[in-house]
Amino acid sequence: MEIRGHHFLCMLGFRGLGYDEKFVKNMDEIIRKLDNKQDILIKVVDSVDNICAMCPNNIEGECKEEEYPGSVKEKDRTILEVLEIKTGEVFSYQEITNRIKEKMTEEKMEDICKNCQWFSLGYCLEGLKNLKGG
Ligand code: SF4
Repeated sequence: MEIRGHHFLCMLGFRGLGYDEKFVKNMDEIIRKLDNKQDILIKVVDSVDNICAMCPNNIEGECKEEEYPGSVKEKDRTILEVLEIKTGEVFSYQEITNRIKEKMTEEKMEDICKNCQWFSLGYCLEGLKNLKGG
């Protein structure tokens, strides 16, 4: 499985919302799979991934939200820098969530994600708080 950097944070806050029905179903299935089997290996990327696979913004394998300052690709890279993970490296989901727990803070997440359309709902930040144990 391939997952892009910023989607690790999106997954923490996912509450069944998304771009359309197909997108939500796919994302829900991926999260359930990873939650049930935390030793699944994930190749970390900064381009379209298994979640993007069903996204209406994915046009022939390219995200149309990708290439501008503050875009999702920039978020991927900043988040991976915080987690000290390089693009292309492979980790278990467990290892990645441990790193998020250890290295990601609410302040950093707010700074990285504040311009995302979903962030103001508060679910993502709550997801991080829950992961960190309250
Ligand atoms: S908007 Fe782009 S990064 Fe987000 S899920 Fe869709 S294709 Fe992937």
